[in-house]
Amino acid sequence: MSDLDRYAVFGHPVQHSMSPQIHQAFAEQTGQRLAYSRLWAPLDGFEAVLRAFVAGGGRGANVTVPFKFEALRLATRRTGRAELAQAANVLSFEGEEIVADNSDGVGLVRDIEANAGCALGGRRVLLVGAGGAGAGVLGPLLQAAPAELVVVNRTEERAQDLVLRHVELAQACGVRLHTATLHAPGEGFDVVINASASSLEGAASPVPASALGSGALAVDLMYGPKAQPFMDWARLHGAQPRDGLGMLVEQAAEAFAAWRGVRPDTAPVLAALRALKG
Ligand code: NAP
Repeated sequence: MSDLDRYAVFGHPVQHSMSPQIHQAFAEQTGQRLAYSRLWAPLDGFEAVLRAFVAGGGRGANVTVPFKFEALRLATRRTGRAELAQAANVLSFEGEEIVADNSDGVGLVRDIEANAGCALGGRRVLLVGAGGAGAGVLGPLLQAAPAELVVVNRTEERAQDLVLRHVELAQACGVRLHTATLHAPGEGFDVVINASASSLEGAASPVPASALGSGALAVDLMYGPKAQPFMDWARLHGAQPRDGLGMLVEQAAEAFAAWRGVRPDTAPVLAALRALKG
């Protein structure tokens, strides 16, 4: 077996994951020696595959659909943002401890503010989706201090639960946080974030175009060809479209920094991935 520090992404499916190439690029850039692989687990076998990886000397893991909730449950320690999200996409194995974190939200906020150049402070933001991704991004979005943040979800009760869990943080950050409905989310938002899985089903947008303010930033967490209908819809209605590739690279950088103690430069990695995707 190689003496390299071992990391892996766990999912079902996992073959599509770009995490190995992103982390290898970070490792080359920062001179870190590590091996990063994809590990598929059966739906009822995440814990067994994870524990075998840890027993074999694994140092850390990324976790993707549908195991983010189970990852949090298996942890012996949780960061505040993983606890708020009730989901974990990053695990670190430290002695006997499994530490759970959630880097999705920080990744999204960095992509919006640093890469897309859109400061969220004082803006009106619409978050569509209250699944694992929506839950992961709400806390860091609130910490970016928009004036208002509206959460809508197909199953409205789920949006209400998510908002209830974040009421105190919203107050502390001075954000008007509330729910609305997919059909009537409100109008003229500065930033619309599609954190629902609607693009997986080929839908353009789960909310009406009146949600977009003039020149709004419209972000779909999806990337690749499936994100295209949403991007086309946003452009058609005068918004600035953005897919989830930047968030993917930024959330990976946050995990890499936690594991290796060195923060990679994301810009060249994102540019290379965009070039690859044409
Ligand atoms: P999830 O936990 O399965 O949640 C799915 C969400 O989408 C739920 O809120 C669900 O509503 C909603 N939904 C599903 N189909 C819909 C439709 N046709 N119309 C409206 N809403 C619909 O999935 P997830 O982990 O949150 O992932 C959501 C998306 O984010 C996926 O496309 C995923 O690829 C993407 N993602 C990207 C990154 C990145 O780094 N770029 C990271 C994480 C996730 P109900 O509650 O009513 O079921």
